[in-house]
Amino acid sequence: MKPDSDFPSDARIDVQTEEGRVTGRIVLAGGGHAHLQVVESFGRRPLAGWQIVLVSPDEKVIYSGMLSGLLAGHYRREEVEIDLPALCRANSVDFIQGRGDGIDRGRRRLLLDDGRELSFDLLSLDIGGAFVPDSITGARDHAIPVRSIDRLLAAVGNGSEDERFTVIGGGAGGVETALAVHHHAVLPGLPPANRVRLVTAGALLEEKPDGLRRQIRKLFETRGISLIEHAPVAEISATEIVLADGRRFRSDATLLAAGPTPHGWLAHTGLALEDGFIAIRQTLQSVSDPDIFAAGDCATLAGAWQPKSGVSAVRAGAILAENLHLRAANEQLRAWHPPARQLMLLASGDQRAVASWGMFWCAGRWVWRIKDRIDRRWVKRFTIFS
Ligand SMILES: Cc1cc2nc3c(=O)[nH]c(=O)nc-3n(C[C@H](O)[C@H](O)[C@H](O)COP(=O)(O)OP(=O)(O)OC[C@H]3O[C@@H](n4cnc5c(N)ncnc54)[C@H](O)[C@@H]3O)c2cc1C
Repeated sequence: MKPDSDFPSDARIDVQTEEGRVTGRIVLAGGGHAHLQVVESFGRRPLAGWQIVLVSPDEKVIYSGMLSGLLAGHYRREEVEIDLPALCRANSVDFIQGRGDGIDRGRRRLLLDDGRELSFDLLSLDIGGAFVPDSITGARDHAIPVRSIDRLLAAVGNGSEDERFTVIGGGAGGVETALAVHHHAVLPGLPPANRVRLVTAGALLEEKPDGLRRQIRKLFETRGISLIEHAPVAEISATEIVLADGRRFRSDATLLAAGPTPHGWLAHTGLALEDGFIAIRQTLQSVSDPDIFAAGDCATLAGAWQPKSGVSAVRAGAILAENLHLRAANEQLRAWHPPARQLMLLASGDQRAVASWGMFWCAGRWVWRIKDRIDRRWVKRFTIFS
């Protein structure tokens, strides 16, 4: 690591530090699960002479584990939100509101989409995935990604009594969203069945135990949520969806929960990618640049595909924090081992939940209580009470 590099004077954002002279700058792009822990770690163990900057398009981020509970009406917004500027202030990290849109690797700059540039010595990306697949015509104009929380709440809250909802995506996010939408928008008025439809390109909850899948199918049947599997969506308009096999369904609100796709701008960074995601080593360094790290949904361990999940992003956070400290000190980095099995806690909309671990699963109100406790603890950990 360069021991005493001043920031190049032509960087258009220059965050001032109180100490004056700094030996290096670590830029954290994205306030995802891993970076929350990294910010916290720099508060606990400040890195003398280094300036740490977090860049995020949003000041407040919603914890995805509680998103469906918010949608179903079980949580208030402030219970599921993390205030990034407050977290940064409490940990002596600078916060910049902005969206990364490119990396000039030669000049060591993160480029933001409004033209600003931010110089770095070490860069770490935890920017999640993009949620609007270009492969579906009309998705950009007519579908609502579940992460666009204001549009999502408006669509679910303002609908008429016979509004038809389609959720695209058969993973945990899609299942939770369909059950939450049913609970919030359909249940109170007891309207006809099939107002909520889940469409998935593959099978429902692929790679999960058969018993769990049967349980979710039964839940869908009881609640009148229709399920269409192995049916890629080709087109979305304001009023309907068209499947690749030509079937058409009315859809007044189409919600995208199909899992992350890579951010397009990564393809122009010159970093090695795998299926469009940043290819990383076990140290969480990009395989093409030892001073660029990545974790969470935006990264893929080179040659060892793993399902993308919040659990995995959380586990990577501690090692990422450690390795950024070690890289700054020019020391040997630690290896990250992605979890072989992951605990999935899936809310079923009615303050019950389903848990799965490897081939085991169980369900009930007590599972929701455990999930609720874990999720609240996570948000509380990063909430700064003034
Ligand atoms: C409804 C729902 C339920 C889910 N349930 C589960 C579950 O039960 N278990 C599980 O393991 N996973 C679950 N997931 C998946 C889980 O949420 C993701 O895998 C997880 O959020 C990924 O974390 P991350 O740290 O990679 O990024 P994210 O949490 O997606 O955060 C990325 C952050 O980066 C910011 N960002 C994006 N682009 C840029 C940019 N260009 N520059 C700067 N910042 C940027 C975003 O605004 C965001 O704040 C669920 C997802 C959804 C939607």
